[in-house]
Amino acid sequence: SETDSSDSSGGHIRLEGVRKTFDGGDIVACDDVNISMDGGEFVVLVGPSGCGKTTTLRCIAGLEEPDGGRIVVDGEDITGLKSKDRDLAFVFQSIALFPHMSVRKNIRFGLDMKTDLSKAEKRERVESAAETLGLEETLDRKPAALSGGQQQRVSLGRAMVMEPAAFLLDEPFSALDANLRDHMRVEVKKIQRRLETAMVFVTHDQEEAMTLGDKIVVMNDGYVQQIGTPYEIYNEPANRFVADFIGSPSPNLVECTVERTASGVTFASDFCRIPATDEQAAAVQDGQTVVYGIRPEYLSMRDDGGQFTARLDVVEPLGDRDAIHLTSGDTSLSAVTPQGEVSRDRNEVSVAMQTDEAWLFDEHGERIV
Ligand code: ATP
Repeated sequence: SETDSSDSSGGHIRLEGVRKTFDGGDIVACDDVNISMDGGEFVVLVGPSGCGKTTTLRCIAGLEEPDGGRIVVDGEDITGLKSKDRDLAFVFQSIALFPHMSVRKNIRFGLDMKTDLSKAEKRERVESAAETLGLEETLDRKPAALSGGQQQRVSLGRAMVMEPAAFLLDEPFSALDANLRDHMRVEVKKIQRRLETAMVFVTHDQEEAMTLGDKIVVMNDGYVQQIGTPYEIYNEPANRFVADFIGSPSPNLVECTVERTASGVTFASDFCRIPATDEQAAAVQDGQTVVYGIRPEYLSMRDDGGQFTARLDVVEPLGDRDAIHLTSGDTSLSAVTPQGEVSRDRNEVSVAMQTDEAWLFDEHGERIV
């Protein structure tokens, strides 16, 4: 690469129509992937198992060769470049440290291949990475004498000393327990802020995607479903898949028929009739089948006066909030309320929905409003 690796403004990665198939084209791992990442941006690829996120990342890394499309880094088309000639550092799911080498040597490993750096420069990079990662005390230990989180930081350190244009991380915390994973998320986010280097991070965990990403790319079945900030993805999902995949508990998605009468437009389901807002009414036709989507936090429990009544099945404490599981007709619904607001002893509640927060999806799952 012609690019000076010390240029910290780099890391603009562009994927243009990237497609990768396996088994002679029978398996389409990813297709028509278009993503534009700014330098210094934290981009998360998220989606269920098999959606093509790892393949997309491996195409960026040069570990897979796309069947079609281009990958451009800082203006240079790198689609045909070998992995080792790309100015990118890959951090894998498994930690893969050398057990017989000290932490210092493990971190320095990739640098030792570089002939254009002085010994002093290499030492300085290792020490600076160790300081950033809080590993100064462990430099002379062997990996076996480190905790799982420390080991994962060593593998990050190994990537950091290469001073790449971007880091590519594939589920790096999946082997860590829940508490350590939460801790490492914050650590990685802090490190990324400090280094101002672009990161592309793959996870199947929507919560991890929300906490880490400046930009989230939601994938399903090999295709990008939506690209946006965490708030955009959460508040304004482009389709039913994104709405359902992001957020816990999942949003309520109820199939309804549009009824347009002289007195207004309503969405009729097997258990209720919900009045349309003006914006919703203007976007639908009489008799149309739609999916009415609304997040649990926009349902509230009352004694009476809601849009429908429901059986209260379970109150699930989440900490500061409770998840309330309800059944109305044959439909299961969930609500989220402040801690203790709804008594566990109640059998039936009246449910009010904040209808201006609802989404409508068409029969193909595409967003209407
Ligand atoms: P996971 O979270 O399970 O790793 P993913 O979203 O990262 O899933 P990929 O690993 O990119 O998905 O796989 C996408 C599709 O391509 C899957 O159907 C997978 O089985 C298939 N696939 C991936 N690599 C290969 C390969 N080397 N040979 C054949 N099929 C493959």
